[in-house]
Amino acid sequence: MTTVNLLDFDLDGLTAWCEARGEKRFRAVQLFRWLHQRGEADFARMTDLAKSLRTTLAAEATVQGLPVLTAQNSSDGTVKWLFDVGAGNAVESVFIPEDDRGTLCVSSQAGCAVGCRFCSTGHQGFSRNLSTGEILAQLWYAEHQLRERLGPAGGRAGAAVATPRVITNVVMMGMGEPLQNYGALLPALRAMLDDHGYGLSRRRVTVSTSGVVPMIERLREDCPVALAVSLHAPDDALRDQLVPLNRKYPLAELMAACASYLDRAPRDFITFEYCMLDGVNDQDEHAKRLIALVRGQAGTAAVPCKLNLIPFNPFPASGLKRSSRERVLAFAARLQDAGIVTTVRKTRGDDIDAACGQLAGEVQDRTRVHERLTRPAISIVARDA
Ligand code: SF4
Repeated sequence: MTTVNLLDFDLDGLTAWCEARGEKRFRAVQLFRWLHQRGEADFARMTDLAKSLRTTLAAEATVQGLPVLTAQNSSDGTVKWLFDVGAGNAVESVFIPEDDRGTLCVSSQAGCAVGCRFCSTGHQGFSRNLSTGEILAQLWYAEHQLRERLGPAGGRAGAAVATPRVITNVVMMGMGEPLQNYGALLPALRAMLDDHGYGLSRRRVTVSTSGVVPMIERLREDCPVALAVSLHAPDDALRDQLVPLNRKYPLAELMAACASYLDRAPRDFITFEYCMLDGVNDQDEHAKRLIALVRGQAGTAAVPCKLNLIPFNPFPASGLKRSSRERVLAFAARLQDAGIVTTVRKTRGDDIDAACGQLAGEVQDRTRVHERLTRPAISIVARDA
C-alpha cells in the first residue's frame, strides 16, 4: 500500500483523509497538533489517539521530513540548512534571530525559472516545484530543532512565552517564485496560519513575488497574507532586463494588482524589495522615477508601500556590483524625503552566504538558463555625484 506524507496536508486536507477512514474531525485536529505543535513523527507516541487510528496511521501514513545535508551557523546567530529534495536537488532555508522575533526564510522551488539577473538562484535554473510537505518540512524541522537547541521561544529575552514557538515569522523568500507553485503553497500557508498548526498571524507570514499578477489576485481571495514584491526598477525598460517576468506582467498590471491586494491584506502597505545595483538602478534619477511610480504619477496605480533597499550580494556570473553604502543611504534619503517609509536591509549571515539573493542550494537545471542569461550586459548609466 502506498503511504501519504501527512506534512502534505493543511487541516482541511487532513480532516478529509481522516474522515475517509471513519474518523471525526477532532481526531484530525489532535493529529495535526501532534505533528506541527509538538513536532512528533512517531505515531506510537501520540498517546491520546485511539489505538485503532494509530494502527491505521502506521499502515497508511508517514511523516516525511527532509534529510539535512548541512547546517551552518553564523556568528550572528543566523542558521542556514541545506535540505536534500532528491535527484541531485537541494534547497536552503535560513533562520534569522532578532531580539523580538525569529524569522524563517523558506524555499518553494528547487531553483527558479524567473531568472532575475542579480539572483544566484535564478542563475542556477529550475528543476521542479516543491510539494506542500517539502515546503512545510522546512518549517517543521527548523521550529522543532531550534526549540530543542535554544529552548522555548528561542531563548528570546523578555519574550512573553505564551507559546514555546521559536519561529514567529515566515517569509517565502528562499529559493523559487512561490506564486509559480501556488497549488503547493496554499495548503502550506494555511498550515502556518492554523491555530492548531503554527498559529502565525497573517501579518507574520509574507509571500514574496517577482510579480505573477494573476496569482497575486488569487492569493488576495484565498489567503491574503503580507505581500512583498521584488520591484528592483522604476520603469518597464529597466525591469524587463532585471526581472524577465516583467515582460509578461508589466508595471501597470503589477501596480494595479498590488493596489487591489491592499483591500484584503493584513497590513496597509505592500513591501517593495529593491536590490541596489551599482550604476544600474541606484541613481537619483531612478529614485525620482520610483517615487513617481508608487505615487501613481507614472500612469500606473498608486500603491501605499514600504521600500526595502537590499545591498546586492555580488557573485561572479551576475556581472553586477554592489552600490556603495553612501549611494544606498543617499537613495534612501531621497525616498524618505518624499514621505516613503524606507529601510535598508541589514545583511545577516554574511559568513555563511545566507544573505538575500545568495541562496544557491543544488539544482539540476531543466531549463536553458545559461542561454537566457547570456544576454547583452545591462547598460550602466552615468553616476550621480
Ligand atoms: S529573485 Fe526570486 S523570482 Fe527572481 S530568480 Fe531569484 S528566486 Fe527567482
